[in-house]
Amino acid sequence: MDPRGLDRLDRRISGCRACPRLVAWREEVARTRRAAFADWTYWGRPVPGFGPPDARLLIIGLAPAAHGGNRTGRMFTGDRSGDVLYQALYDVGLASQPTSVHAGDGLELHGVRVTAPVHCAPPANKPTPAERDACRPWLVQELRLLRPTVRAAVVLGAFGWQAALPAFAEAGWTVPRPRPAFGHGAHVELDAADGPALGLYGCFHVSQRNTFTGKLTPEMLRDVLRTAATAAGLRPAK
Ligand code: SF4
Repeated sequence: MDPRGLDRLDRRISGCRACPRLVAWREEVARTRRAAFADWTYWGRPVPGFGPPDARLLIIGLAPAAHGGNRTGRMFTGDRSGDVLYQALYDVGLASQPTSVHAGDGLELHGVRVTAPVHCAPPANKPTPAERDACRPWLVQELRLLRPTVRAAVVLGAFGWQAALPAFAEAGWTVPRPRPAFGHGAHVELDAADGPALGLYGCFHVSQRNTFTGKLTPEMLRDVLRTAATAAGLRPAK
């Protein structure tokens, strides 16, 4: 694919102001900050996807965290959820380092791109259905640009699953009816009339609520990542 297409898309996403409630919240958080990050200049804008333009595997979360991606400007970077995700990606050989602290920390993803159906940090991590729908065209465009290479996707959590299915349909894959239900370990093949199929995998979200309680363990996360990466034609580490 044309990497400049994805660069252009990421720049356009970063300037979006379509959701008044989210614009107000992300900018308020950036102004007030958290004491631990008082010396940071927060990003305070929509957070675009992160990873190479020829990714074979896509990871879809929920939305940036107020003091994570909304602070650092990079998806899943600078918060506990990201700590868990990038450690797992590193463990299975899909990331160059186990930590993701700030946008200039040198982290590289190998064949993987990380994105979200909502690009602005929402209050209480809860976008409204209207905000989810307003942001969908960005995900559809990202999926269309990735279509030449992407062969599998891991969706973290039920919100992302519900948001992603119509985006996959709009981007050219066939989503079964009734829509497949989310679950940890759920797997459905999305055929496409004019291109290769895509393997869609469900995984509990890497939120602290799930990882602190053991609902999602590092081993469970690594298992899903390995399965999806193999399906995508990557060679994850054992
Ligand atoms: S959530 Fe999406 S559509 Fe809404 S302002 Fe942010 S980038 Fe734009």
